[in-house]
Amino acid sequence: MSSPDHSPDFIPFALPSIGPEEIAEVSRVLESGWLTTGKYCRRFETEFAEACGARHALTLNSGTAGLHLALEALGVGPGDRVLTVTHTFTATAEVIRYLGADPVFVDIDPQTLNLDLNQTEEKLKNQPGIKVLLPVHFGGLPCDMDRITQLAERYGVALVEDAAHAFPAASGGRKIGSISDATMFSFYVTKTLATGEGGMVCTNDDKLAERMKVMRLHGISKDVFNRYQSRKAAWEYEVIAPGFKYNMTDLAAAIGVHQLAKAEKLRLRREWITGEYNNAFQDLPVILPPEPGPGDIHSRHLYVLRLKADAPLSRDAMIEALSEAGIGSSVHFIPLHRHPYWRERYGLKSGDFPQSERCFQSCLSLPVWPGMTDIQVGRVAQVVCRLLGKDGG
Ligand SMILES: *Cc1c(COP(=O)(O)O)cnc(C)c1O
Repeated sequence: MSSPDHSPDFIPFALPSIGPEEIAEVSRVLESGWLTTGKYCRRFETEFAEACGARHALTLNSGTAGLHLALEALGVGPGDRVLTVTHTFTATAEVIRYLGADPVFVDIDPQTLNLDLNQTEEKLKNQPGIKVLLPVHFGGLPCDMDRITQLAERYGVALVEDAAHAFPAASGGRKIGSISDATMFSFYVTKTLATGEGGMVCTNDDKLAERMKVMRLHGISKDVFNRYQSRKAAWEYEVIAPGFKYNMTDLAAAIGVHQLAKAEKLRLRREWITGEYNNAFQDLPVILPPEPGPGDIHSRHLYVLRLKADAPLSRDAMIEALSEAGIGSSVHFIPLHRHPYWRERYGLKSGDFPQSERCFQSCLSLPVWPGMTDIQVGRVAQVVCRLLGKDGG
């Protein structure tokens, strides 16, 4: 692939929407001298919990940490299995291995690109040892959480959502973050709410929240802010477990509170860009991204286009041509069954996941970041139409 063009005309695949509010707030944190977990994290947690209708929201230094803490708090360990989807980022599944448990992978539904729920039910029925169901809201299109909740209840398994792509989002009228035992959000730089690195885990369960709070900071029973702010015996603390170092900094939370305040505005902008692309691409040899059902809110994190067999360019050639035209794009995802670690450890074959495989071979993700100008959106649409127009020109 040719090296990225850094000319001023280059349209990157993703860019965070950082404004003067974020910059001023980070300056305030720097001037305050309190850089790590403190009052900004508290505020971000309160406001985020409110925004997604959860009882508890815990700030973390990554989304991956949220999945790890949730599974740990649910007691997942060696001998347990966690059901998830092959069409995801490796973080979804690696946390299962952190705990010595094993993943059970299912294919995707080609309509929604989310996990296939018939296969999910089959595995729950036939595969012993599944303790947790871990769906991923691919690209921000919510999974059918009504059906998933029913499956979890019927088969007696816990529910943890990978909502790295799904803020803000809702399924069947319920906000993502308010539904499952625990829900993870990622604030990695490319995500819909970006703090550089960062994440949040939400739960309505007081006991899970308490365990995750302790484990996110070395297994200490009070967090660092309490320790240094309380009047008496600031030096005193107790370690009750070998915990992790997963707390967020106030620097990140200061960005987060402003990102949160504009999250719906940014979502609407991505939705508008999506609509522009959908209109422009209607007659091309492509499958347009799936649309949400009634009662669903799509975060519009990714715009995933699938090339049909009669497209004039292969997916790889298309990415190359876009790059030459000064447009960044990406592929979501290289499915887990294609990576040596997962393939070899679990004996996975491409033939086991035909839908994920087909999607991977034919898909590319176009830029949908809210700061794109109307002219940039038009340029992407025009170049894609030129490259995929059946007349070739
Ligand atoms: C980004 C991402 C994660 C990991 O989030 P981090 O904040 O980078 O740890 C997990 N799952 C999916 C599907 C992701 O896209």
